[in-house]
Amino acid sequence: MMLEVRDLDASYGRAQILAGVSLDVAAGEVVALLGRNGAGKSTTLKAILGLVPPARGRVVFDGVAVAGLAPYRIARLGLGYVPEERRIFTDLTVRENLEVARRASRQGFAPWTPSRLFKLFPNLETLIDRPGGRMSGGEQQMLAVARTLMGNPKMLLLDEPSEGLAPLVVEQMEAAIAALKREGLAVLLCEQNLHFARRLADRAVILEKGQVRYSGTMAALTADATARKTYLEL
Ligand code: ADP
Ligand code: MG
Repeated sequence: MMLEVRDLDASYGRAQILAGVSLDVAAGEVVALLGRNGAGKSTTLKAILGLVPPARGRVVFDGVAVAGLAPYRIARLGLGYVPEERRIFTDLTVRENLEVARRASRQGFAPWTPSRLFKLFPNLETLIDRPGGRMSGGEQQMLAVARTLMGNPKMLLLDEPSEGLAPLVVEQMEAAIAALKREGLAVLLCEQNLHFARRLADRAVILEKGQVRYSGTMAALTADATARKTYLEL
C-alpha cells in the first residue's frame, strides 16, 4: 500500500474535526476523497502531512509510519501536496517557479523536468517567462501541480484541483491527472465535484462531519443514487 490511514482523529484547538478516518491508496491508484464543503477533506490531507497534528491514529506512507514527523520530512519521503490555495511564487516566472521546486529524482524513475511537464501542461510552455501573479486561476493551478511534480513525488495529494476553473481548463487538468495515473503515480484527490473525480478515480471515500460514511469503487458509487444524494447532493 502506498498510503494507509487508520483511525485518524484531528482537531483545531478544542474542536475535533476528524473522527476515526481510515482510507488506503495503493500504488498507481487514484482515490477520490469526496464530501460536501466542511466535511473534513482538506483537514484529512493536512493531518496526513502533519500540518494539523494528528491526535490519534496511524499514517503509513510507503512503509514509513509518518504520524508525528515534521511536515517537511513527510514531504521529503515523496508525498507531494497541492493545497487549495495554490502556493506559487507570484513574483517568479513559470520557469523560475519550476526550477526552485526541483528536487533529486528517485531511483528508477525518470525525473520531472520543465520540458516533460510542458507535455502535460502545454499552456505553461507558452507562459514560460510570465510571472506567476500575472496568470489566470487555471494557469496558476496547473503551475501549482507542475511545481509539486518537480519534487519527484511518489504520490500526490490534490486539494480540489478543479475548483473555480473554467470548463476547458477542467478538461486539461483532468487529462493531466489521467496521464499521471498512467505513469503509475498514486493520487488522493479531494473533490466536491463528483463529475471531475468520477472518470479519474478507481475508488471513492466519502466524508461527512469528519467521518467516513462511504467507501467503495467509483463504479459502485456511480450506480448508488442513494449514497450520492445523501452525501453529495447529486
Ligand atoms: P472540506 O475541505 O471538506 O471543505 P475542511 O477540512 O476544510 O473541510 O473543514 C472541516 C471543518 O473544520 C469545518 O467545519 C471547518 O469549519 C473546520 N476548520 C477548517 N479549518 C479550520 C481552522 N484552521 N480552524 C478551525 N476550524 C477549521
Ligand atoms: Mg477543503
